[in-house]
Amino acid sequence: MNALNYILSRTLPFVPRPIVRRVSRRYIAGDDLRSALDVVQRLNGEGLMATLDVLGESVSNRSLVAGAVKEYLAALEAIDIRRIDANISVKPTQLGLKLDFDLCLESVRSLARDAGRMGNFVRIDMEDSDCTALTLDLYRRLRDEGLDNVGVVLQAYMRRSLADLRALPEGASVRLCKGIYVEPREIAYRDRWIVNRNFRRLLEEAFDRGCRVGIATHDEAVVWDALDLIDRRGVPPAMYEFQMLLGVDEKLRSIIRRDGHRLRVYVPYGANWYAYSLRRLKENPSIAGYILVGLLRPARH
Ligand SMILES: Cc1cc2nc3c(=O)[nH]c(=O)nc-3n(C[C@H](O)[C@H](O)[C@H](O)COP(=O)(O)OP(=O)(O)OC[C@H]3O[C@@H](n4cnc5c(N)ncnc54)[C@H](O)[C@@H]3O)c2cc1C
Repeated sequence: MNALNYILSRTLPFVPRPIVRRVSRRYIAGDDLRSALDVVQRLNGEGLMATLDVLGESVSNRSLVAGAVKEYLAALEAIDIRRIDANISVKPTQLGLKLDFDLCLESVRSLARDAGRMGNFVRIDMEDSDCTALTLDLYRRLRDEGLDNVGVVLQAYMRRSLADLRALPEGASVRLCKGIYVEPREIAYRDRWIVNRNFRRLLEEAFDRGCRVGIATHDEAVVWDALDLIDRRGVPPAMYEFQMLLGVDEKLRSIIRRDGHRLRVYVPYGANWYAYSLRRLKENPSIAGYILVGLLRPARH
């Protein structure tokens, strides 16, 4: 990332919201479930699977948790009725993790049970380091109850992730990603080379342990490492899938798909677009150009 892009990525909270909204449209399917389903149907038509994310996090009261559960249930029902190839990804803090652990557990449990009845699956996203232990606990508790249609996420930048992976139940479903939150050096690797090496290390360990793995990255070096491991070990297609975010590197996405690997696109939608948009823009290596175009181009109403 060049200096201008870096500076802009650090000052994003000062960019007016309408500009952020405009330049982050590519990352978000729309304001409602209907728009998201249309996007998923288009992706399915290209041979891609999807995971739906109702935007929102760190809710401050119980009624917001109930609202999020309702929205996710509507998504599961629509997926079932339309027979589209998608599951759901949930954020624990949107389901009350920071309010009351048991409320969060019950919310994820009820979604997992509903998803199970429909032959579907719930991925529990991983948030910042305050949530790591609780999120893993949530996952373990649900697996102990016999809910096999849930999966968790591990972040390659976290120093603890290898130990966390080793402590997961047998046959766990794990999404591996680099990790997006800003964490202190004591607990997270900062060096990009080490994060990439750790990603490979985690992937190897996950395959050794018989995990089903979602390889969530747009970094072609990490994709190469993953393909190398898959090829050397003869990992069967059912044991892995690639995962990418909506609006990021569609070229790489189509190359991976063309080469015969399964690929799932993370499709966020909903009214609470701001925090997610900031995270995505922060990672965009050409952010300065986007913001500039956003400032110069008149808004379309
Ligand atoms: C499906 C999926 C689910 C995820 N779930 C989680 C989660 O639960 N918890 C969590 O902490 N993180 C999650 N992430 C985010 C992840 O941790 C990284 O922050 C993000 O994927 C960028 O890392 P990267 O591996 O793509 O590598 P990077 O080195 O960051 O990016 C590689 C290249 O991808 C392109 N790129 C990456 N991001 C963008 C962008 N926003 N806009 C334009 N180009 C871009 C650039 O060309 C960049 O050079 C998820 C990512 C994916 C793909």
